[in-house]
Amino acid sequence: MATLKEVISCTSDYDPDALPVAKVNEVIRSFVKPVSGVEKLPVRAALGRVLAKDIVSPIDVPSHDNSAMDGYAVRGEDLGKGEPVTLIEIGTAYAGKEFAGEVKRGECVRVMTGAVMPAGTDTVVIQETVSTAGRRITISPGQETGQNRRLAGEDLHKGKPALKAGALLRPAELGLVASIGIGEVRVRRKLTVAFFSTGDELVSVGKKLKAGEVYDSNRYTLWGMLQRLGCEVIDLGVVRDDPKRLEAAFRKAAASADAVVTSGGVSVGEADFTKQMMAKLGEVVFWKIAMRPGRPMAFGRIRARGKAAYLFGLPGNPVAVMVTFYHFVRGALLHMMGRSDTELPLLRAKSETAMRKKPGRTEYQRGILEFKNGEWSVRLTGAQGSGILHSMTEANCFVVLGHEQGAVKAGEYVEVMVMDGLV
Ligand code: AMP
Ligand code: MG
Repeated sequence: MATLKEVISCTSDYDPDALPVAKVNEVIRSFVKPVSGVEKLPVRAALGRVLAKDIVSPIDVPSHDNSAMDGYAVRGEDLGKGEPVTLIEIGTAYAGKEFAGEVKRGECVRVMTGAVMPAGTDTVVIQETVSTAGRRITISPGQETGQNRRLAGEDLHKGKPALKAGALLRPAELGLVASIGIGEVRVRRKLTVAFFSTGDELVSVGKKLKAGEVYDSNRYTLWGMLQRLGCEVIDLGVVRDDPKRLEAAFRKAAASADAVVTSGGVSVGEADFTKQMMAKLGEVVFWKIAMRPGRPMAFGRIRARGKAAYLFGLPGNPVAVMVTFYHFVRGALLHMMGRSDTELPLLRAKSETAMRKKPGRTEYQRGILEFKNGEWSVRLTGAQGSGILHSMTEANCFVVLGHEQGAVKAGEYVEVMVMDGLV
């Protein structure tokens, strides 16, 4: 496995003091590796997990040609060219109960949706376009041979992969697995992620605040984001800004988790003693990222008791924690889970207001996306300070102002990332 130093040496224009967002993700992605453990689970228990091996379909789906509509199964060659034709109904085929005989010239069979196509037929005429007189069925012109018929294997082919390794198992995937008669799937094991907050000013919920103290909210946002990604979490609480206690917390985390996420302690004033302490535990780099919010961040791999864990040392400010989690940690954890798709779509929306922005950094402003006057438009949630957590609770999207982007005028289009579904 490459060291962090080797990964960084392969990254062009690497400057830890002004690292663009894209480079951060490039380094993280080249360094972080998926976990190898695999487990076999019943299909429903695998919801939200990542498929570890391709699933090859043991059958064609559907397994037989069948009717897509309620109507009459006919031989295409019997249909009139421009004039009505009358056929004789010789029986009925239901879904799950096929018609046993064979349909000859001039005959037809009543069929229900999903019924196997009776032998000799290749076309279904919907019931709304026929008139009936006893067993005499008169079909209006304008039909096409092969219409309203589902072909065997048109959904899935026997022997071909129905799902690829790396797929997230969503409700659609559970249904697809069931549609080929498979009851158990092999998925990657869950990630274990340890997290803690650092700071002498932090107080846990339930205690009274003294002057200068703040409640520890990051452990709640982090817990929520990790839960939503499907991680097993280890909450290591609040750790004081004390090198010995920090070292003990990092050792415990490294020995018990695949990844460690911390908040606080990486800003310029605090980084120095964290740096010295971390140098003992493994390979950790300290970045000043060209972004807002969320400038300082530590990243690397630490070891304890023969085990290793990736480390994400996030800034302390509550919005910065969430932004750096969404845009760096999320993708890294999904990659560790074995997911093949980690990119998120950016959409375009009209900016209702002007936005201040300097080129040379990426900004993730918190926005409210709404459909107005026939198009999607976005406005900011108000004050955008990195400590203002209600800018996150009011927002339904990030307005992503890219590295090169300058100020935005009202009415211009900007890129937005919808928050729903991020975690
Ligand atoms: P730091 O990165 O440790 O310098 O913290 C930056 C700011 O974020 C300070 O105002 C801290 O009080 C605040 N902060 C740090 N950790 C937390 C936390 N767990 N919950 C709420 N605020 C925090
Ligand atoms: Mg601090």
